[in-house]
Amino acid sequence: MLELDGVSIIYTVRGKELAAVENASLVCPEGKICALIGPSGCGKSSLVQAAAGLKKIASGRLLVGGKDVRSTRENTAVIFQDFGLLPWKTVAQNAELPLLLRGIARGERRGRVAPILEELGLSPFASFYPLRLSGGLRQRVAIARALASDPDLLLMDEPFSSLDTLTRESLQDKLLEVAARRKMSILIVTHSIEEAAFLADSIYVMKGRIPGRVACFVEAPRPRSASFRTSASFFKLCVAVRTCLESKAEGADR
Ligand code: ADP
Ligand code: MG
Repeated sequence: MLELDGVSIIYTVRGKELAAVENASLVCPEGKICALIGPSGCGKSSLVQAAAGLKKIASGRLLVGGKDVRSTRENTAVIFQDFGLLPWKTVAQNAELPLLLRGIARGERRGRVAPILEELGLSPFASFYPLRLSGGLRQRVAIARALASDPDLLLMDEPFSSLDTLTRESLQDKLLEVAARRKMSILIVTHSIEEAAFLADSIYVMKGRIPGRVACFVEAPRPRSASFRTSASFFKLCVAVRTCLESKAEGADR
């Protein structure tokens, strides 16, 4: 579904070229969840923006659904860390936004979004404004809005990192539930080893800065048991990711 092959990303700062990512390759197959983990500044957000069609790549190939990404795409949804909700719109109106932008009439918007709000436990809050909601609920609204565009690819850039542990874990459970019900590939950026290990089918570890690189890859077999979070195999997976992150740490310059 998402394929990066030798992707490099360059920013031009005051006339100088700065290579943010070099030669990054990863594959996220249809229906799978892939995690991208690495220290800050290694280029994770730049890769998400490129995959969303918001940032041009300097070299390599970037394909979504087998097609080169040249601009934004209707069925690619992006969720950012800061939720990106409009404070002057209600929960339901925020969730309906992608449909509004597509010119879909009010009645149909309501009808399409209602089951998504229900699925995310947001129905009681439909008429609330975001300021009245906790961080966890706000992030649920951001997920509802992403799902409203019926995505086949969901890109998430550190979506849960500002949330407390329990809220974060309940949202991780929710995300797995939502993903299992849909044909959707997910790329989630995180700097949490546990989050990557809990959510992903494949974990790509990035290292280095200016430029960052995809340094290694950990395969994480699914499906998993309900008690996966407290199992020995979860712990083993975390160790594998940590080993990968810490190997040749001198190359990571921090
Ligand atoms: P991460 O998400 O892993 O923290 P980013 O993709 O945000 O990393 O940034 C990677 C590198 O690119 C950093 O060195 C950062 O300073 C630089 N960078 C990111 N965005 C810009 C920009 N708009 N202009 C110039 N440099 C940028
Ligand atoms: Mg980032």
